[in-house]
Amino acid sequence: MIEIENVHKSFGRLEVIRGVSMAVDKGEVVSIIGHSGSGKSTLLMCINGLEPIQQGSIRVDGVDAHARGTDLNKLRQRIGIVFQQWNAFPHLSVLENVSLAPRKVLGKDRHEAEEIAVRQLSHVGLQDKMNVSPGKLSGGQQQRMAIARALAMSPQYMLFDEVTSALDPQLAGEVLDTMRMLSQEGMCMIVVTHEIRFARDVSDRVAFFRNGVIHEIGPPEQVIANPQKPETIDFLKSTR
Ligand code: ATP
Ligand code: MG
Repeated sequence: MIEIENVHKSFGRLEVIRGVSMAVDKGEVVSIIGHSGSGKSTLLMCINGLEPIQQGSIRVDGVDAHARGTDLNKLRQRIGIVFQQWNAFPHLSVLENVSLAPRKVLGKDRHEAEEIAVRQLSHVGLQDKMNVSPGKLSGGQQQRMAIARALAMSPQYMLFDEVTSALDPQLAGEVLDTMRMLSQEGMCMIVVTHEIRFARDVSDRVAFFRNGVIHEIGPPEQVIANPQKPETIDFLKSTR
């Protein structure tokens, strides 16, 4: 379970997260929607300890992500993260890119790490692309490789930050299908997205972020189909 409690986060004097609380259960998919600059990416960075917070707490399976003495490497093994842009190592094959972290971070030997990589690359439909260089992949395939790379660490949670926003609709669809598959397998995911349809179809809950707070949160049947707040309605209109 990820428990976010009254989190405040500032960059210098700019407070970008202003008291966010939310608990995400194992197996749950929560989408975060909202205007540019509302703090969505920042929250994801705070969850896996990439950014410090000034107030509140974030616990991942009971471990305080921001406590002194928390092993951030261990924490990050539990939480896979995929960004809009992911830089692969261009001189390594797809297989080598995906097996790198299991070898370097989990200490697996080459054979075992490659087995894991083959399994995860097949999982995301890239079994035919193992030996090419990442530069030869389409944008959608690159994002699926990034997903496979995160899955190779056997995470308990996956965070996605607008992973399809640089892709044309067809390639985005492939990536969204992969994410849908993960959710059906029971993966707990927090998905920052502007794909409102995906949020509606796949999420258990949708959180609408506005100016660093959760302005409205609930099942998609509420937040997307029948929003209660005028600002949510305006935002959804702006995405059509
Ligand atoms: P978008 O939809 O455009 O991705 P977002 O909701 O993800 O937006 P954030 O990236 O979380 O927004 O940014 C929230 C605010 O924090 C913005 O005003 C941004 O300029 C600021 N910000 C983000 N990262 C930093 C940083 N490293 N240093 C200073 N300010 C930052
Ligand atoms: Mg962002």
